[in-house]
Amino acid sequence: MTAIAVLGSTNMDLVAYVPKAPRLGETVTGSAFRTVPGGKGANQAVAAARSGGEVVMIGAVGADEFGVRLRSALTAAGVETAALRTVEGASGTAHITVDDEGGNSIIVIPGANGGVTGLEAGDAARIGAADLLLLQLELPMEAVLAGASAARAQGVRTVLTPAPARMLPHELLGLVDLLVPNEHEAAALTGFTDPLGAAEALLREVPEVVVTLGAAGVLYAARGQEPLTVPAPRVRAVDTTAAGDTFVGALAVALGEGRPMPQALRWASAAAALSVQRPGAQDSMPTRAETDAFAA
Ligand code: ADP
Repeated sequence: MTAIAVLGSTNMDLVAYVPKAPRLGETVTGSAFRTVPGGKGANQAVAAARSGGEVVMIGAVGADEFGVRLRSALTAAGVETAALRTVEGASGTAHITVDDEGGNSIIVIPGANGGVTGLEAGDAARIGAADLLLLQLELPMEAVLAGASAARAQGVRTVLTPAPARMLPHELLGLVDLLVPNEHEAAALTGFTDPLGAAEALLREVPEVVVTLGAAGVLYAARGQEPLTVPAPRVRAVDTTAAGDTFVGALAVALGEGRPMPQALRWASAAAALSVQRPGAQDSMPTRAETDAFAA
């Protein structure tokens, strides 16, 4: 079984459905409201657990009702939460407005995630016991750096999803083994809008890159190798929320099992393609058996 540590965010997504997003000073009546457990860290943890990984989540939730639900959503998915601290104050929240055309605007309030500024007792050992460490950018940079350093010091493979997009310190990139941006993040990081150009630029900093391309699939590039494109299965997408997180969670499990990269990419693409055919974020993530059946 692949052992995976995730150092990352948990957020409650507060989703308001409206015909049209309100302008400043305007009030609109919406049609529905939902609260959905999310956060890129938690999403990747759930995806990896459903894919058959043994997953520990390192991070923090607030001492509020959302914190209780965020933790239980992880536990229900089989994620170990002993290293998910409950801290004073509010859990992270994402305030999402979805309009009738599917367009959205989002306010993220880090809450408890913002207080995670480094590793706590036992975290370095948890990372050391893992085959891979999954990182994203919804925690303070100091924490991401501390996690990546602990992984490198113990020979653990580090996978970074550079989202939300922002400039990355060279120090961090030097500690990353596999970078998995989507095409927008790849462009933001490099200034190259074509994924191949972006991937080649990123290979100056990290040894391996997977650029996700939505319905077009993924582009894999590694130093000294021909780039490889893996097309996505053709499916009817109804909700692509957390598609990238599903992909990363599944990819990490497959790589930890020692599957060759092309096979791991195809399997993770199958998992992500299953997730986009269902509504929701964590709810839409497939089990290992579902992905095996779809990938066969
Ligand atoms: P993100 O969700 O981070 O924005 P992408 O949109 O690139 O990232 O999606 C991540 C992965 O999810 C893609 O590489 C692909 O494997 C899968 N995926 C996304 N949209 C679709 C789709 N419409 N059909 C099939 N697979 C999809």
